[in-house]
Amino acid sequence: MSINYSETSLQSIYGEYSFSETTMKERLPKSVFKEFKNVQNGESKLSRDVADVIASVMKDWAIEKGATHFTHWFQPLTGLTAEKHDAFIDPAGDGTVMMEFSGKELIQGEPDASSFPNGGLRETFEARGYTAWDTGSPAFLKQDNTGLTLTIPTAFVSYTGEALDKKTPLLRSMDAINIQAMRILKKMGNTSSKKVVASVGPEQEYFLIDKEYFLKRPDLKLTGRTVFGTMSAKGQELDDHYFGAIKDRVADFMRDLNTELWKLGISAKTQHNEVAPNQFELAPIFTTANVSTDWNQITMEMMKKIADRHDLACLLHEKPFAGVNGSGKHNNWSIATDDGINLLNPGATPHENAQFLLFCVATIKAVDKYAGLLRSSAASAGNDHRLGANEAPPAVISIFMGHQLSDILKQLAAGETVKALGGKKMEIGATTLPIFPMDMTDRNRTSPFAFTGNKFEFRMVGSTQSVAGPNVVINTAVAEVLDEFATQLEKASDVNAEIQKIVKDSYNAHSRIVFNGNGYAPEWLDEAAKRGLPNLKSTVEAIPVQNSPEAVALFEKYNVLSKAELDSRVDIYLEGYSKQVNIEAGISFEMAGRMIFPAVSDYATAVAKGIASIKSVLPTADTSAQESLLAQLNSLMESMLKRNEILKIEIDAALELDKDLMAQAKAYRERVIPAMDSLREAADSLEKITDKDRWPYPSYEDMLFNL
Ligand code: ADP
Ligand code: MG
Repeated sequence: MSINYSETSLQSIYGEYSFSETTMKERLPKSVFKEFKNVQNGESKLSRDVADVIASVMKDWAIEKGATHFTHWFQPLTGLTAEKHDAFIDPAGDGTVMMEFSGKELIQGEPDASSFPNGGLRETFEARGYTAWDTGSPAFLKQDNTGLTLTIPTAFVSYTGEALDKKTPLLRSMDAINIQAMRILKKMGNTSSKKVVASVGPEQEYFLIDKEYFLKRPDLKLTGRTVFGTMSAKGQELDDHYFGAIKDRVADFMRDLNTELWKLGISAKTQHNEVAPNQFELAPIFTTANVSTDWNQITMEMMKKIADRHDLACLLHEKPFAGVNGSGKHNNWSIATDDGINLLNPGATPHENAQFLLFCVATIKAVDKYAGLLRSSAASAGNDHRLGANEAPPAVISIFMGHQLSDILKQLAAGETVKALGGKKMEIGATTLPIFPMDMTDRNRTSPFAFTGNKFEFRMVGSTQSVAGPNVVINTAVAEVLDEFATQLEKASDVNAEIQKIVKDSYNAHSRIVFNGNGYAPEWLDEAAKRGLPNLKSTVEAIPVQNSPEAVALFEKYNVLSKAELDSRVDIYLEGYSKQVNIEAGISFEMAGRMIFPAVSDYATAVAKGIASIKSVLPTADTSAQESLLAQLNSLMESMLKRNEILKIEIDAALELDKDLMAQAKAYRERVIPAMDSLREAADSLEKITDKDRWPYPSYEDMLFNL
């Protein structure tokens, strides 16, 4: 299974399962390839003839490699991916089959989609949904134990064209930012770039534990996190795991994972131990936002699959273990032109720096204006355990710019002559501008939105979440600001002076969002409140921002999402939240009543019998230690059972509220979760004093310290 890289070169397997641009160029007739590139660049629409040729070539390629089926692969609002497989076969009528795959089948699919969440957008009798090929993301061959499936990345919409997935608005938001950024570049005299693309590099965190332990924990199996468990004597306080030597068993897993990803042309690049025990990270090399989103979904799926092969379980949940850090997904974001100019790269020339400052303040303004929306894009039941818990950013959005860059922006905003490095004067866009210092950013791990040299890093995203949502918000919000800037520049007689003015005005109006200090400090929350920055503490408070009048106006203006689409999403996310917490609460109730209680009760009986048998031999023996333990066990058991009853009452009360999704989500947040926490407290106290051999599921120590 494992490849020996001294015999097989990495280059020879890289991308072998990807219908990449290179493969297309090799196999398609020149004119068809050229036409396809035009389609990709949005310069022309895909014709049926071209689609037929591409489909036929794609099919031959897939069949040569051993594929028998194809699938339109899409990303419904569950946050997962979906696929339905069709064989290439086409019966010839004489008992034989031809292998067929038409342009029509490539471009469009019609899955019966009534069982995917649609938030009322599609009545169940109108079950049809359409999948449409995303020409910007390469088709690939997905491997399972028995074979390969040609997998075509698609967007998923309803019969009437409403987005039912994560991909559709992402593609629309990429169009929006492309159009607006191009207007700016044009005004700045750029004649070479044809297109601006949002690029994303998501760093994926995850845990690995032995599969045997995973299978013995119903909470992990059903919810991805432990709802009970006391921290072992050792947690992460020694900081000895971060960047530590990677253990063999983990290294084997990583090697296999990399191989599978490389075969798909996914550029898995960096891997290391993370802060918590048994926590790791994988970062790919960034690419366009849509491809990155697809690749991240595949990466998560592969992680689980490969872990299983190694008798491991990969936990992608945001907070599998209380007491150690949870997992996130740093979403590195920038915008670049098709000819390779990163618009967030401070350059070596005054012109490049003017461009950089303009796109930089556009991002600052966008993030300030839509801070609540951005925070909302990272909201989930799992992520509520991280945000604001001093291991991940606070729930308040702010931007880290680094001191040097903040200084430059401040001086520009004050209308001062800026002295940059070397003490030279700095005028934006004029020839006297000195070179910006190369690495202007310090490291700051507590900021939710940090400038890191030539990109912004949005660090709130949860480890299980699709990166589509956050990038839809960033792209569209920045597009709106670029739209305003472009309009200003188009009217201006002196473009340089206008840029100067835009930078000054924007920074003055939005510098409140810039914060370079410690985001974990309690004072910051007070300061943020004074600055008027929103603090949406939980998912339930954050989700409704998504169909607020401001959000609807923004998304409708750029045709990214309509009010109906946003309303449906809010419903789906609220319902998803409630369902998630309901499962967690249900499994807590079950484990407490049917696993923990019987085990502790048996142990208490054994202790009682022990006391009696000691007394029968030594009537005057001192058994006060055992008696005190027994008393503690008894009283905690009683308390646990009471708390479990309360939990059941709260669950039932929340379930009753299913006619009002908001009220229901609130009930889960405000009543069910505290009841679960209270139950956990009693159960975990019992774990601390109960015979380890009798405890009914693996402990934190077992799970976190044995790879
Ligand atoms: P860190 O020090 O935060 O781990 P890295 O330099 O390792 O940062 O990069 C993290 C991620 O950022 C990688 O996935 C990388 O490809 C991505 N990245 C780098 N440059 C860009 C860019 N211009 N746009 C988007 N992502 C980028
Ligand atoms: Mg990072």
